[in-house]
Amino acid sequence: MSDLPDPLRVLNPATEEVLATVPAASAADVDAAVVRATRAQTAWAALTPGDRARLLRRFATAVDEHLEELARLEVREAGHTIGNARWEAGNVRDLLDYAAGGVERLTGRQIPVTGGLDVTILEPLGVVGVIAPWNFPMPIAAWGTAPALAAGNAVLLKPAETTPLTALRLAELALTAGLPEGLFQVLPGRGPVAGDALVEHPGVAKVVFTGSTAVGRQVAAKGAALLKPVTLELGGKSPNIVFADADIEAAAAATPMSFLDNSGQDCCARTRILVQRTVYDRFLALLAPAIESVLVGDPADERTDMGPLISRAQLNRVRSYVPTEADGIRGRTPEGGPGFWFPPTVLTGVGAHAPVAVEEVFGPVAVVLPFEDEADAVRLANATDYGLSGSVWTRDVGRALRVSSAVRAGNLSVNSHSSVRYWTPFGGFKQSGLGRELGPDALTAFTETKNVFISNVSSNTEA
Ligand code: NAD
Repeated sequence: MSDLPDPLRVLNPATEEVLATVPAASAADVDAAVVRATRAQTAWAALTPGDRARLLRRFATAVDEHLEELARLEVREAGHTIGNARWEAGNVRDLLDYAAGGVERLTGRQIPVTGGLDVTILEPLGVVGVIAPWNFPMPIAAWGTAPALAAGNAVLLKPAETTPLTALRLAELALTAGLPEGLFQVLPGRGPVAGDALVEHPGVAKVVFTGSTAVGRQVAAKGAALLKPVTLELGGKSPNIVFADADIEAAAAATPMSFLDNSGQDCCARTRILVQRTVYDRFLALLAPAIESVLVGDPADERTDMGPLISRAQLNRVRSYVPTEADGIRGRTPEGGPGFWFPPTVLTGVGAHAPVAVEEVFGPVAVVLPFEDEADAVRLANATDYGLSGSVWTRDVGRALRVSSAVRAGNLSVNSHSSVRYWTPFGGFKQSGLGRELGPDALTAFTETKNVFISNVSSNTEA
């Protein structure tokens, strides 16, 4: 019997058609990749910063020139709407450009001491492992990869089992752009095999993991045993807090896509809609037609708002959270044909502690819960193990500041649902993660700080 892992079957989630069969990396493949990456990293770190930046910009240009192709591939393998997929490919380009701008600015410090000169040097870590999920295969791969390369590291990227195709194409584009062979390698494979091998490998200096809290905990434990740093971007159950003094029309209009974008398979999805009781009925009356008009269907169609879920397993998981008789608002899906469809769903009359109200469903499902006053809103917002994102809708600036400060989450927005910009930091509190990605400090997270003291005492007796 062969030791080779079974290949990965990549399905189109809108049609269930098999798109590709991809060989799955084994632990031995990871070993070989680490050897190649280590060699490439030494040469990469020795290049002048200007040359490294130039090569990363060329990589960004290659992504830009293939943006439509990458986006179409994302539509087919992940079921993302074409509009979202174009944004995602553009996000990879922008991240590479932004990280390239940091290469020549990755400076240490000069610290005053007596008896000499003290400087800090930010050295690359070596080989970095990036383990990505299927929900945003391209951007999340790039969040780790771009700054790690810019800081002088090599990267081994393990995409999710269901979505390896865009990652493989990005690796080809990196080579055509002139990045050295072995510097950025993609290892499609299974989490417990290829992912685990990256975490356990002594030649991998750091792991950036994005995925479920359950697997993140295992990655952290294994990293701890090796004293290997890990960054964890995990799940979420984020609140959308609507106060009575808010622009209720605007808050209701913005709500559907705050949890339906990417079919709700978004760690920042605002799946707990908290509405002040005095405007609860009005808010729901405005929300219902907005939910019912969300267009669910072929993700390649420019008019589509929401595509399918990623897989049958995900569809079954989402269904298991939603009682068929539950009160609420439901949108429509294509009927009868293939594909993993679930309608936009807002549940009312659900208890604040019900599983659907506190666990991450990762589908197009939100609950609405009423609250009495500001203190009650904050209590409800924090009544979850997660702490990734959240939104506050109010016209009172003081309240916006107080509530943003009181909600225990890493990314908050006021009168908006924005969470992720590549130039601002992103990450979670509590069970939503450890460490930060993106933003002005992204490159530093892929360096070790070395302190060097140079004595001013002359050792040359003739001087
Ligand atoms: P997952 O944890 O099952 O898998 C994520 C990745 O980890 C995949 O590449 C998988 O192959 C790999 N993996 C699985 N087992 C592993 C192991 N034992 N060792 C090493 N790697 C292993 O999660 P998923 O279902 O792919 O993604 C959905 C989850 O990701 C959701 O919970 C979501 O909230 C989270 N997520 C978080 C963020 C964020 O930035 N905080 C972003 C996107 C997704």
